[in-house]
Amino acid sequence: MIQELSYVGVASPHVDNWRSYGPGLLGAMVKPDGPAGAVRLALDDINHRISIHPGTADEFRYAGWGLANETDLRAYVEQLTERGVDIHWGDADLCREREVAELAWFCDPWGLRHELTWGKAATPNSFQPGRVMRGRFVTGDQGLGHVVFQVPDMNKANEFYADVLGFRLSDRIVNGYFNVRFYHINGRHHSLALAEFPGHVGFNHLMLEYENMDDLGRAIDLLERHDTEIMQSLGRHTNDLMTSIYITTPSSFQIELGHGGLVVDDLSWVARTYNKPSYWGHRFSSAARTRAPGILNPIE
Ligand code: FE
Repeated sequence: MIQELSYVGVASPHVDNWRSYGPGLLGAMVKPDGPAGAVRLALDDINHRISIHPGTADEFRYAGWGLANETDLRAYVEQLTERGVDIHWGDADLCREREVAELAWFCDPWGLRHELTWGKAATPNSFQPGRVMRGRFVTGDQGLGHVVFQVPDMNKANEFYADVLGFRLSDRIVNGYFNVRFYHINGRHHSLALAEFPGHVGFNHLMLEYENMDDLGRAIDLLERHDTEIMQSLGRHTNDLMTSIYITTPSSFQIELGHGGLVVDDLSWVARTYNKPSYWGHRFSSAARTRAPGILNPIE
């Protein structure tokens, strides 16, 4: 009953770099700081979508998932509790900070924190892109974009995310190098993907989608100005048909900037297995070979 990826939070020592990277490269809008100097970015009229909290290391903090309303949130929390998920209700301060009406949170089997919410605040006609853009970000009923986590055990992860949480499988990419599962919760081909990475848990990337191809092209033109490296070259994915690049951020995880992603119809969708991630492109750069693939931590 989760309906959208609503927001994402990380911690990082390089919070202030986001004040130029966010608007100048991505085209996001910088909003007033959150508590303790957290940088907040908006991608549309929702008050904020991305939070970078000051911290001593790059760290994934939380993914916020939106439900339709309070009735759905309560029913879903009850259902997860019955399945043994340890759920905590957020207090008024936390709800105020996230700008949601209500919030309940839990961690996955490896400690990745997920927040279930409804009633996120929006300010109509407030969004102004941080740089020249021909279109907007694709959000609305497809949510913020998608997140990709590395998990040590795909079977266990699928049991939790699909069987318990109810993420619906879109497809898999399986070959000698990849074992990745993609899940939808709305029309976006995937709001969540899980990549098997034995012995580790991590936050690999956040995907943001532009309505207009020129805004992706412009981002490529602006990479150098923002000391940003390409991790995977421009390419097109086999499963969600997204044309995209993968780039570094000031905080170790990557951002995939895309255009033209597939919209799925859950009523007729049948999951496939692909043997490769891309029709063309998405070549790993030399930078990609020397850096960790995201915020990646060994399991203790
Ligand atoms: Fe992606």
